[in-house]
Amino acid sequence: MSASDPASRAESVSRTAPIGAAASARGGVTRTVAIVGGGVAGIAAAVRAADSGWRPVLIETRTRLGGRATSFDDVRSGVELDNCQHVVMGCCTNILELYDRLGVLDELDWHETLWFARGGGAMDRLSIAPWLPAPLHYAPSFARMRLFSLAEKRAIARAFLVILRMGPRGRVAWQGRAFGEFLAQTRQPARVIELFWEPVVLSACNLPSARCEAAHALKVFDEGMLAHRFAGAVGVSRVPLARLYRRVGEILGAVGGELRLRTSAKALAFDGTRVTGVVCDDGIVPAQAVIAAVPPDRLARLCSATMRGYDKRLGRLEQFGFSPILGVHLAMKRRVMRTPNLALPGRAVHWLFAHDAPRDDDRGPPFAQRLEAVVSAADGWLGLSEEEITSRVLSDVSWAIPGVTHDDLAWSRPVLEKRATFASSPGIDAIRPRTSVEAGDLKGGIANLFLAGEWTDTGWPSTMEGAARSGFAAAAAVGGGAGVADGLPAATLVRVMRGTGAP
Ligand SMILES: Cc1cc2nc3c(=O)[nH]c(=O)nc-3n(C[C@H](O)[C@H](O)[C@H](O)COP(=O)(O)OP(=O)(O)OC[C@H]3O[C@@H](n4cnc5c(N)ncnc54)[C@H](O)[C@@H]3O)c2cc1C
Repeated sequence: MSASDPASRAESVSRTAPIGAAASARGGVTRTVAIVGGGVAGIAAAVRAADSGWRPVLIETRTRLGGRATSFDDVRSGVELDNCQHVVMGCCTNILELYDRLGVLDELDWHETLWFARGGGAMDRLSIAPWLPAPLHYAPSFARMRLFSLAEKRAIARAFLVILRMGPRGRVAWQGRAFGEFLAQTRQPARVIELFWEPVVLSACNLPSARCEAAHALKVFDEGMLAHRFAGAVGVSRVPLARLYRRVGEILGAVGGELRLRTSAKALAFDGTRVTGVVCDDGIVPAQAVIAAVPPDRLARLCSATMRGYDKRLGRLEQFGFSPILGVHLAMKRRVMRTPNLALPGRAVHWLFAHDAPRDDDRGPPFAQRLEAVVSAADGWLGLSEEEITSRVLSDVSWAIPGVTHDDLAWSRPVLEKRATFASSPGIDAIRPRTSVEAGDLKGGIANLFLAGEWTDTGWPSTMEGAARSGFAAAAAVGGGAGVADGLPAATLVRVMRGTGAP
């Protein structure tokens, strides 16, 4: 790194920069934690730091909070659109806790039934049976699904039993292997892989089974479907994602903290052993602790070579790969979709979500229903024109919902996120860094630099839950507080099956 790099310059700047404690809103003296990155991880960290007596300064380069889980004003349609449909699940206890702290938990609609298209308008439903304990809660509707033959259902049930019995302990043995190997070992038929396992793994991990870390996929099926009755319920925001974060500035302000939008961090200031603040495009934010909540490639740009040599957590930032997601907004002139969600097994489009009434503030041309189509691991769509994307998506929509044609479309807006998620490739967990330097390893790292972001060592695939966990963990490492919330407890029957006993 040359001396003209912001990160190198920051080392000399930091030696003279003030390392001051700021006056808190209550008149006492409060320590400042600077948080770089206002995605879900940075928001979670900042809010928790505020709650545990620190003064958070949240630095975000864009005009809005939310990072990859946010919204934008689409100038063509006049509608505030999410960059892509985002869903949470019942098992995502930390993002739900964050929403609760932000006072927006009731902005979610919960879907306890997932619909699976069979083509030509036929569909199956997979519903949570409230009267049955986990892991039996999907059994009645699964048994009724017409997408799979009896033999295929037996094959799925056989693999589910293996997943349930192995639980979190057994998953360790699968770390570093592809989920495809598990499917082969449990003798899953090709059709079942294509129509059942693949759509779920693609949606949750954003990679196909053959390229996906087995431990991540197994976690999704175990903790996201089987272990608890509510785990697989799907939560969808009723409002544009960016509005979920509207109270963040107020929460930070109440403890003398700050939300700095439109502010780019250029480097982390480093005095040779500790970080002393963040060098931004409009000056330095001095801080006693820094939480870096940006993706790994961005973090690499903020750190000097000296820092990276000093702290081994920063050594493998270039080794992360990424996987794209395509979201396509389709404004329909008539209400074409009767279910709130619809999986399209075996098709290029993986999910459709329906949003019925246009919001009061939608200013564009009128439409009756807005669909959001989601294509995970969308590598094959890179380079297509908007027209080609729209026509391919419409072709899948009309496969699932006959009678839908181009004439039903008021407008469409594809949004392709090339670096939507880090790639959950086999072995990925070995390079994900810890939040803080390991105890007893203080000489080998920067003790007051904390790492957050969904790509850090959370054990989760790239999700808002992983991001919220990382933010809560970082805030707890800085200043105590509640830390990461427990997941949903496995149901008694599940624990009995695992041989871990009833609670
Ligand atoms: C299309 C798409 C669909 C998805 N669907 C789902 C889903 O359904 N469910 C789910 O749980 N997850 C989903 N995800 C994944 C989820 O959005 C991410 O895992 C999560 O939001 C990551 O949060 P983060 O805070 O770790 O990182 P980010 O959201 O990337 O936040 C990092 C922030 O840092 C800011 N930043 C970067 N550099 C600087 C700098 N130098 N100075 C200041 N600020 C900086 C960025 O602007 C950004 O706001 C999806 C992602 C995408 C893209």
